[in-house]
Amino acid sequence: MNEYNRPLAGKVALVTGGSRGIGRGIALALAKAGAKVAICHPGDERAAQTLAELQQYGEALERCADVTSEAAMVALFDQVCTLLGTPDIVVSNAGILHEAPLVETSAADFDRVLDVNLRGCFLVNREAARRMKSGRIINIASDLALLGRERMTAYCASKGGVISLTRSLARELAPHILVNAIAPGSIDTDMTSVDSMSPEALAKDLATPLARFGTVEEIAATARFLAGPEAGFITGQCFGVNGGSVMY
Ligand code: NAP
Repeated sequence: MNEYNRPLAGKVALVTGGSRGIGRGIALALAKAGAKVAICHPGDERAAQTLAELQQYGEALERCADVTSEAAMVALFDQVCTLLGTPDIVVSNAGILHEAPLVETSAADFDRVLDVNLRGCFLVNREAARRMKSGRIINIASDLALLGRERMTAYCASKGGVISLTRSLARELAPHILVNAIAPGSIDTDMTSVDSMSPEALAKDLATPLARFGTVEEIAATARFLAGPEAGFITGQCFGVNGGSVMY
């Protein structure tokens, strides 16, 4: 291993929702690139397995911490700073999906989605900004923020907020901290599982120029690029890794 294939050696990264799915993929990509990686999750039994995988590449830690809890996020960042060092790379990835027609969406449903997806992103970005002197913040949005999707109004609104938050914070934290978003298209994870989708929903997700789901590795490679030395002139952007579903 050398500097070329471990460009993040000596860096500390924190990935929220890193126990499974896209977050796990990003955490592994950053660890393989040499970063010490911390992940958090609200209580996923797969976190121990992900931690063991991360530790094959170097120092890592996992914490049970809910992004909707201000106290938990403050404590998480304090622990990462103490045990691994001040983060250089923070990925706000934790998210949930709620699917229902708007007229059947309760205010509590709406609040829950906004709480995890947008307020959680705010808390993570704020704790990162309070501690980081330089580095990268990467927020995971969604192509649906730009496309809109029936029966997913709360989710789309929350991810639109993530993109706006990213742009404002990129201005506020320049020039030392670069802040970008990734807006994935459909990726085969527990959240959007090909096996559990109705034929109608699947057809809609496949109606893109590339006509396929993306992979966790394709999102992780984009995050690794944004975290690395080649991305030093990029801030305030939203990267569509989406098979052409949205063209910027
Ligand atoms: P996933 O497989 O459902 O994984 C979600 C992750 O977030 C899990 O690790 C989960 O932990 C964690 N999480 C959920 N609520 C949390 C909370 N309150 N605090 C901390 N962690 C929490 O989803 P995914 O597909 O990997 O999605 C990851 C991100 O990509 C999300 O922001 C999602 O909106 C976005 N995205 C996904 C797709 C897609 O097609 N999959 C497309 C566009 C955007 P537990 O396992 O403990 O619940």
